[in-house]
Amino acid sequence: MTAPRPSPFPTSTSAFDPPKGLQPTPALARLGTESAFEVLARAKALEADGRSIVNLGIGQPDFAPAPHIVEAAIKALHEGHHGYTPAAGLPELREAVAAELEPRAGRRLDPGRVLIVPGGKVTMFLAILMFGQPGVEIVYPDPGFPIYRSLIDYSGATPVPLPLREAKGFAFSAEEALSLIGPQTRLIILNSPANPTGGVTPEAEVARLVAGLADHPHVAVLSDEIYARLLYDGRKHASLLAYESLDERLILLDGWSKTFAMTGWRLGYSYWPQSLVEPAVRMAINSFSCVNAAAQFAGLAALTGPQDAVVEMHAAFDARRRQVVDGLNDLPGVGCVEPGGAFYAFPNVTGTGLTAKQLETALLETAGVATIAGTSFGLFGEGYLRISYANSSENLKEGLQRIGAFLADRGVA
Ligand code: PLP
Repeated sequence: MTAPRPSPFPTSTSAFDPPKGLQPTPALARLGTESAFEVLARAKALEADGRSIVNLGIGQPDFAPAPHIVEAAIKALHEGHHGYTPAAGLPELREAVAAELEPRAGRRLDPGRVLIVPGGKVTMFLAILMFGQPGVEIVYPDPGFPIYRSLIDYSGATPVPLPLREAKGFAFSAEEALSLIGPQTRLIILNSPANPTGGVTPEAEVARLVAGLADHPHVAVLSDEIYARLLYDGRKHASLLAYESLDERLILLDGWSKTFAMTGWRLGYSYWPQSLVEPAVRMAINSFSCVNAAAQFAGLAALTGPQDAVVEMHAAFDARRRQVVDGLNDLPGVGCVEPGGAFYAFPNVTGTGLTAKQLETALLETAGVATIAGTSFGLFGEGYLRISYANSSENLKEGLQRIGAFLADRGVA
């Protein structure tokens, strides 16, 4: 066996410092975090001190779920659904998820391979811990959702970043992804539409990757498609599920948080290779037992009920996307490629003369605008800032004005 390549990238480090005597696993110190939550906490603290903060940091829709979704949960509670459900989820919900995914797959799917989980994040937790261990490599997008990297580090696997580049609209390159696969690679993580960039990988690139994966049958794929329904300008979602050749090694991640504005309900789903369903359910039984029953009834109503609220939210995001991209491109020292999906813009801020982290801090503390440094999503995020446009048009206008005034004060031309 070839020795695993040492990662040229520093592992995530936390401030974990156990008191004398306690000896928790060293893996705990490798577990990272999601700085969006830290920025949110700081923004709330500043607000509590009387400061006005425009929050363009956190990635959650500023909409409420449609009323029929909330009613379905209330009805379930009134009808007495207070107990455990099957660990894999309510059978009718698993069937609805399989039906929801069938257009992406272009074939019949097996509801027995659907797992209902408490949030999209839980699927990545299960999948990364299923494949990650010392001596193996996991390829993940950079800049990308920070929990991928955190869990890879926690598992002891070597993280291998797949750089996403502005010049390609932050789509991944199939050629580059395939070049990173070695004998020790066990999992490759993909995310389109993407957080934090809003990048969308075109179907041809996905097809090239899938064709190349035929030479690497030892590599499983985790496709994070949580923003699948948030695509703009008529773009079509290129799902990995469409490739039957991956049937026995694709883990599909999606959920209700973004599409149905249900981040706090903690509800997600995954579609597993047949061979991994049973271990995935066992991991569920060992950790969360099952998902909150009322939330599952709400999830069923969301998938099977009217979709008007989803369509309306999508239209609002699209209008704000244009507002934000135009507004950012009007700022000195800032350039922003058009994001094709999700609800994030990822402007290049190198022209401001500040690092991503310096700009994040200055904007929050001085200008009263919460944003997230690109480096919170990986080393390839240096020089960028994540702006979430899941906020009202008025707040976006105010946030952009404050950023503009801050840059003018600094003399950025
Ligand atoms: N995957 C991506 C790419 C995300 O951006 C997020 C949330 O921000 C998640 C997964 C997690 O979703 P959930 O809140 O349902 O756990």
